[in-house]
Amino acid sequence: MVTHGSKSFAMNLHSDRALTEMFSLIDPDPISLALIRRGQLHGPLMLMYHSVQRGRAIPDWPWAVSMARFRSQLDFLAGEGWKTVTMADLAARPQAWPERTVVITFDDGYRDNYEAFEALAQRGMCASWFVVAGWLGRGAGWGDAGQPSDPLLEPAQLRAMQSAGMEIGSHTVDHLRLPDLDNTQLNAQLLTSKALLEDVLGTEVVSFAYPYGAWDERCEQAVMAAGYRYACTTRSGWALRDGNPLRLRRLAIFNDDNLSSFARKIAFATNDVRWASMIGYWRRQLLARMGWNT
Ligand SMILES: [Zn+2]
Repeated sequence: MVTHGSKSFAMNLHSDRALTEMFSLIDPDPISLALIRRGQLHGPLMLMYHSVQRGRAIPDWPWAVSMARFRSQLDFLAGEGWKTVTMADLAARPQAWPERTVVITFDDGYRDNYEAFEALAQRGMCASWFVVAGWLGRGAGWGDAGQPSDPLLEPAQLRAMQSAGMEIGSHTVDHLRLPDLDNTQLNAQLLTSKALLEDVLGTEVVSFAYPYGAWDERCEQAVMAAGYRYACTTRSGWALRDGNPLRLRRLAIFNDDNLSSFARKIAFATNDVRWASMIGYWRRQLLARMGWNT
């Protein structure tokens, strides 16, 4: 069985390379397009972006995307009949949304996101932003390796975005890993960021994103006690899968995602859309249908 296993693994790797090469000139490729059109959807999805960098060049930072690709992803979603809502609207009425509902989210609040906001507004789309409230208008200085130190959005920009139907939520004061904090620090990050943003926006802030996607039961309780109603993680999957408004799931969109991988992420609600993984998945489905347990 070991031989059989490694042989099919090698075959999968080969298929992955061959399919990727074959499809590299078509975007999205026909299989990925068929998957997003005919696949079985299991509820709304949330997508996660960070920096959106001007131009067509693929950014160095994996978590950033180019403005050209961002625009093409928006046009693709709109063309396939997907509608955007804010995270607060999604989570407030989880049963209300049809299939092909998507929440576009941005973490950190980079100033380059203002152009992304304009691209959304031009298309009649909306999104939710989770901004690092203690760093507004300043360079992102919490210092993770490889992360751009570009400035964050200004308070006046956040107000303009909110007036145009965008949601602004919190991503703490200082972008700290919440499970590492003691209760006093944890509460300060949650309460102070909420108060700072409410001061900027003049409205209640109800949504939150855990920095680094790091959370545990204690953090979740603290988020609720601080007055937030909805929070998102970086766990992949259908957004409402856990039935818990403080554990909404998101898919990560990376710098090298083209429309084919973008379509497959949505079709399968997963971040791992290499062809090898897809083929493995289909193989297991097929064997299961034939009554073979793998
Ligand atoms: Zn972040």
